[in-house]
Amino acid sequence: MNNLADFDRRHIWHPYTSMTAPLPVYYADSAEGVRIRLADGRELIDGMASWWAAIHGYRHPALNAALTAQARRMSHVMFGGLAHQPAADVVERLLALVPEALDCVFLSDAGSVAVEVAMKMAIQYATGTGQPHRRRFLTLRGGYHGDTLHAMSVSDPHNGMHTLFSSALPAQFFAERPPAGFDAPTDEHYIGKLAALLDRHERDIAAVILEPIVQGAGGMHFYAPAYLRFLREQTARRGILLILDEIATGFGRTGRMFAHEHAGIVPDILCVGKALTGGMMTLGATLATRPVAEGISTSADLPFMHGPTFMGNPLACAVAAASLDLLCASPWQTRVERIGKAFREGLEPCRSLPDVADVRVLGAIGVVEMREPVDVAAFQHEFVKRGVWIRPFGRLVYIMPPYCIEPSDLATLTRAIREVVALNPTA
Ligand code: PMP
Repeated sequence: MNNLADFDRRHIWHPYTSMTAPLPVYYADSAEGVRIRLADGRELIDGMASWWAAIHGYRHPALNAALTAQARRMSHVMFGGLAHQPAADVVERLLALVPEALDCVFLSDAGSVAVEVAMKMAIQYATGTGQPHRRRFLTLRGGYHGDTLHAMSVSDPHNGMHTLFSSALPAQFFAERPPAGFDAPTDEHYIGKLAALLDRHERDIAAVILEPIVQGAGGMHFYAPAYLRFLREQTARRGILLILDEIATGFGRTGRMFAHEHAGIVPDILCVGKALTGGMMTLGATLATRPVAEGISTSADLPFMHGPTFMGNPLACAVAAASLDLLCASPWQTRVERIGKAFREGLEPCRSLPDVADVRVLGAIGVVEMREPVDVAAFQHEFVKRGVWIRPFGRLVYIMPPYCIEPSDLATLTRAIREVVALNPTA
């Protein structure tokens, strides 16, 4: 165990940490249901679903069975020139869940890649439809679309994660993020500013890209569906594509299968990932409408230019198909509602604490926003002591557990947040 700790610290990078002064890590030995078991025997109730992904919990027998059955048949073959059943299975299930118009699917390796693919589609679409001047993207401040370079270029420019690279990134157009609140009344002044920005740059914009309803890693910001409807109407009118990044919000997390359903709109391009495989392994997908696909390939010598080695990986596709079957057969709406209710009751008392700026809940997402950035290591230490796995970032202590979590475990999660936030080990 000590050797493992030394080895890890010396040789292995963890997300957003340095090799010279890494944050502490805990050793995960196994995981089952909503529990992560540490190497020292402690068990933690998972509040994070491994960053939105593990919606069915861990070591689910149906997902394990899908993985092993597929491994016995064929783990991987190149997708160039070969097709296979697992890819058809996952795409068939995806098509049944998304708006009918989105019927051209590109399978890739991860969320960030799905975003890169979407952005390349928009650029190639502009070229193919005789608008080569449309090369840039408009997005919302406070957004997050991944860590690859073009995905970063449309992520919040002032977020600590991406400022380091700003001078090396393509310059995009940023609108203010919409006013806070899923139920907030429409702010006409804000709408006017959005329209003015579109007026000013219309000729240069290939696509508007954003996270619908919930901006995740950029600040856990919730906004009203009316702004999405406005942007859909405006982009359609101006010949600009609308790309929705549902990598975090997809597959039920906000109370709808996809967050854009709250607004009743259909994007031109949709990115999904994370919970697509139930968190078992990595897979992304970018779904486009037929007119987008036709605009990209107006002639046979204009293919869409992307094709990763592990495109359509059969193991990931088989698991994703099984995960979508599980999700659709489960009472996920009731579960998400139940989690939201437990969060509203269990987290609301934090609002009166002096260090807390806001408490908000949507679907199965619960957020306590502190007034100051938290000491991640100190918070995690306190959470682990209380038997829960919660990893804050910035000023945000937030949870989005697997949908199958039981009421008593939900109560433990929210109690731990109340206690640790009240203690505020940062101070
Ligand atoms: N878009 C959004 C909205 C995300 O939350 C994330 C991951 N946090 C990504 C894109 C990138 O996905 P991945 O980490 O799988 O590359």
